[in-house]
Amino acid sequence: MTANTEYKAWRVEEQDGAYVGREQTLNTADLPDGEVLIRVSHSSLNYKDALSASGNKGVTRSYPHTPGVDAAGEVVESAVANFTPGSQVIVTGFDLGMNTDGGFGEFIRVPAAWCVPMPAGWNARTAMIYGTAGLTAGLCVQKLLTMGAAPEQGPVAVSGASGAVGSVAVELLAKLGFDVVAISGKAEHEAELKRLGANEVVGRDALAESKKPLVKPVFANAVDTVGGNPLAELLKQIQPGGSVACCGLVAGPQLPTTVLPFILRGVNLLGVDSVEIPLADKRQVWGKLSQDWACTATEASARDIGRGELDSALKAFLEGASAGKIVLDHQ
Ligand code: NDP
Repeated sequence: MTANTEYKAWRVEEQDGAYVGREQTLNTADLPDGEVLIRVSHSSLNYKDALSASGNKGVTRSYPHTPGVDAAGEVVESAVANFTPGSQVIVTGFDLGMNTDGGFGEFIRVPAAWCVPMPAGWNARTAMIYGTAGLTAGLCVQKLLTMGAAPEQGPVAVSGASGAVGSVAVELLAKLGFDVVAISGKAEHEAELKRLGANEVVGRDALAESKKPLVKPVFANAVDTVGGNPLAELLKQIQPGGSVACCGLVAGPQLPTTVLPFILRGVNLLGVDSVEIPLADKRQVWGKLSQDWACTATEASARDIGRGELDSALKAFLEGASAGKIVLDHQ
């Protein structure tokens, strides 16, 4: 009987102005309406989950709430023919984990339009090693390639390189033959970034604030996961005609730039959204990640945690101290 099934979830509640997450027992009868009920075996940790868990109202308006923008598992009930009970699916983005109970619970109920069939050869854990972060890295790389980025043009920079998005971007770009310069604040992570394929690892001071509107162009292209001042500095260092795929804001949502990189060097700033894009676009990148774009070093180094470790793992994101890919295993 799934209509009234009890399940465990890591739920966040507001208590005297503070946001506290803990395991609770919930009932599937209380999940929102939706065409597909999924037993979630795995989720993935993202910066956005840390924002939701810490009461960021731009991400989650009301509490109690179950975060988790990613989920993978087995269809238990379905009102649509193309998702049959027993089939494995991936759900990322849209409203999952924001204002719809997400993957940090053992069940979710969502619209069929949010569900991607599990790519052949993958299981739920493999999909969640990548999660939204891996999908976003794939979308960034795809946008750079669409703009004509190619290894022979010169080095490609990845900022926030040790993070969930950055680490997959480093490995994927290296796999595609690019000379990757990883920009990271974690000196102790240099060996790991080189293992993922970075040719060079430089500190965040490579993007330290300079007064000049343009500086010597050293990178042909870049993936930026941090935004803010570092992105403004990165734009000054891009070679003529190069592109920067921009997806994140850990260093701030402001972009204090001038138009000079754009009008004097023809630099392209490419926005990347992984949340509300058409399902077909998500599916295409999932398909690539499961085949030619598989990041085997990332897959091998992913860390599994249980619900009891979520609190500390999410806090590390907010401190910029998280590294690599973390999978939540509900089993
Ligand atoms: P992580 O926390 O895993 O990675 C971010 C990395 O950025 C950190 O590990 C750190 O790497 C670096 N960093 C942290 N704080 C700062 C700072 N103040 N200044 C400069 N660098 C910093 O987060 P994710 O990889 O999950 O997400 C990265 C960003 O991408 C987030 O803003 C997230 O919201 C966004 N995102 C956007 C998506 C979209 O659809 N557009 C989808 C997924 C994520 P290091 O120590 O190596 O420098």
